[in-house]
Amino acid sequence: VQPPPSPLHAFRAAVRRAPDRTALAYFDGRLSYAETDALSDGIAAHLAERGLRRGDRAAVMLQNTPHFVLAVLGVWKAGGVVVPVNPMYKSAEMRHILTDAEAVAVICADRTWDAFLRDTAAEAPSVHIALTACERELQTRDDTRVLRGERLGPQEGADDLLTAARVAGRLRAVPADPGPAADDLALISYTSGTSGTPKGATNTHGNISYNAERQRTGLALPDGATYFALAPLFHITGMVCELAACIANTGTLALAYRFEAGVVLDAFLEHRPAYTVGPSTAFMALMAHPDVTRGHFGSFRTMSSGGAPLPPALVEKFRAGFGPYIHNGYGLTECTAPCASVPPGREAPVDKVSGTLAVGVPGPDTVIRIIDEAGRDLPFGEQGEIAVRGPQVVPGYWRRPDATAESIPDGELRTGDIGFMDGDGWLYVVDRKKDMINASGFKVWPREVEDVLYTHPAVREAAVVGVPDAYRGETVKAYVSLRPGASPGPDELAAYCKERLAAYKYPRVVEILPELPKTTSGKILRRELRHRA
Ligand code: ATP
Repeated sequence: VQPPPSPLHAFRAAVRRAPDRTALAYFDGRLSYAETDALSDGIAAHLAERGLRRGDRAAVMLQNTPHFVLAVLGVWKAGGVVVPVNPMYKSAEMRHILTDAEAVAVICADRTWDAFLRDTAAEAPSVHIALTACERELQTRDDTRVLRGERLGPQEGADDLLTAARVAGRLRAVPADPGPAADDLALISYTSGTSGTPKGATNTHGNISYNAERQRTGLALPDGATYFALAPLFHITGMVCELAACIANTGTLALAYRFEAGVVLDAFLEHRPAYTVGPSTAFMALMAHPDVTRGHFGSFRTMSSGGAPLPPALVEKFRAGFGPYIHNGYGLTECTAPCASVPPGREAPVDKVSGTLAVGVPGPDTVIRIIDEAGRDLPFGEQGEIAVRGPQVVPGYWRRPDATAESIPDGELRTGDIGFMDGDGWLYVVDRKKDMINASGFKVWPREVEDVLYTHPAVREAAVVGVPDAYRGETVKAYVSLRPGASPGPDELAAYCKERLAAYKYPRVVEILPELPKTTSGKILRRELRHRA
C-alpha cells in the first residue's frame, strides 16, 4: 500500500472515515476525530493570523496531552514545521534549539513560558508567537471539559492555546489546503544528546508517513485499536509509532501526561490498549511497581521496545510474569524511528556467541548494510558499522551540511552503531561505536556485560562504562540499581559476571545506585555515569 503524502492526509482521511470515533483519550476525557479536527483548525487559523508562514518553525514543548496533538496538527495545517522540544529541558537547552531552528512560535505550558521562555524569547528574536496552556489544567483528569472552554485558572503573558483552538468555527470559510507534499519538512527533531550537542534531524512528511504506514500494516492491529502513548510524543518514537501510526489506523490514542509507572498501570486498565511502544527502561519500571499484576496487560495484542537496548533476560522475565512478548525494534531519530523490527508472530533470535537479542529485520524498501571504515560491505556475522538507506531516512540535518555529509553521505545513514547480520537477515546491534571500552587492548562492549547483569534476578537496571585504569588503560565498571527488597552486594554481582564472561570483560568494580540517570525519553545515560566515575 502506498502511504499518503503526509500524516495530515492520513488524519483527514480518518476524520472522513470515522468522525465520531475517539481520537484522543486522556484520563476520563475524550475527543472525537471531528472535534480534534475542529480544534486543530482553530490553532492553525490563529497561527496563520499571527504571521506563521509556510515552512516556518514552531516549537511544541508539551507532555503527552491532547494539547500536544492539537498543536502538532495545527502547525502542520498552517504549513509550519514542528520542532518538538522536551518540556523538561532547562533554559540553555531550549535557547539552543529555538535559536538554531529560528522558531517563530512556541507552544508550551504557562509554567514553561514563565520559567524559561519569556526571557529566552527575548534572546531568540525570531519568536513572535506564543501560545500557552495552563499547566494545572494540562494535568487535570477531565481534560475534554477544559478543551471545550471551561478554564480553571487565569492565564497571562501569552495567547491562550485553548482560546485559539476554539476559534475553529470562524475558519470554516477558509478553503481547504491540499496539505503538505511528501518532501516538505514535518519536524526538526533534535537528538536527545545522549552523546553530544543536539543537532536537528529534518524528518519530512513522507518519512513519517512511510513509517506510520509500515507500522499499521506490520502490526496488523484491528481498525480503530487503542494505542497507549508510553514513549513521550516529543521523542521520534512517540511521534511516529504512537501518534502517526495510530492516526494511520484510525485508532484511539490514550495519553497519560508523562511516564509514571503507577499512573500508566491504572491507565492500562481504564483504556484497555491493544498496543504500546516504549524504551526498555519503561518496561523495567512497570515490572518493578509493587501493584503490578498480569491483569494490567490483559488487553495487549502486542508491544514493542524501541530506541534503546532490550536485554533478552527482560523479555523472558516480562513474558513469564505478565504474558506479553516484547518485540524489539531498532531505530534512530535520523530514521524517523524504526528501520528494523521483529515481525508480529515471530520471535527475535538470540545470537549464540554473544547472547545478543536480534533487533529485527529491515523493512521492505530498506537496505541495511554492515560496513567497514572504508564503507565496504562486510560478510554475514562480521561486526561493523550499521548503515541504512530507505524512505524513512532523513535528507539531512538542519543547516548542518558538514554533519549531513559526514553522517548521511549520498543519502545512506551511518548510524554510529556497531552491529552484524546473520544469514537469515536478522540484524543485531552490538553497541554504540563510541561506547566501546578498551581494556588492555581488548574490546569490551558494554551491552554484552549489561545483558549478563540483567539475568540476575535482583537487578533492575544496569549500565556499564569504561573508567580510567593505571594498568589496563580502561577498566570495566558496572552501575546497577536493584529490584525492591533485593540485597546482593557489589562483590556478589561482580562474581556473578565473572562466572559468565571472559576474564577481561567482567566488571572489576560494581557500584549500586538507587536509580540510574536517564534522559527524559527513558534512556540510561552512560555518558553521565562515565563522568561520575
Ligand atoms: P545521540 O544524541 O547520540 O544521537 P540519542 O539516543 O539521542 O543519541 P536516538 O536517535 O534517540 O539518539 O537513538 C538512537 C540510538 O538508540 C541508536 O543509534 C542506538 O544506539 C540506540 N538503539 C535504538 N534502538 C535500539 C535497539 N533495539 N537496541 C540497541 N540499541 C538501540
